[in-house]
Amino acid sequence: MYAKIENKSFSTSVKDNRADYEIKRYRDEKEKAQHDYCLKAGIPIFMPKTCYSCGKNVVDFYSLSECLTGILTGCRNCNKSFVS
Ligand SMILES: [Zn+2]
Repeated sequence: MYAKIENKSFSTSVKDNRADYEIKRYRDEKEKAQHDYCLKAGIPIFMPKTCYSCGKNVVDFYSLSECLTGILTGCRNCNKSFVS
């Protein structure tokens, strides 16, 4: 009975780690997309990796297509602007 419970919690934590990994991978993809967009457009990168104000990952609040096609100038979580 104990073994069964252990197995269950083990498989749950593996699943969580995988989901975590996917989130991080997607985040990296979005950060790269934004950097590439800024380079191509010849504009400075305003976006910090984490928001100065709330400490969240800025790209988490934007879609990949938004990171590919426009400049991220603020945090959608706390409405902090990175352009002063
Ligand atoms: Zn913020």
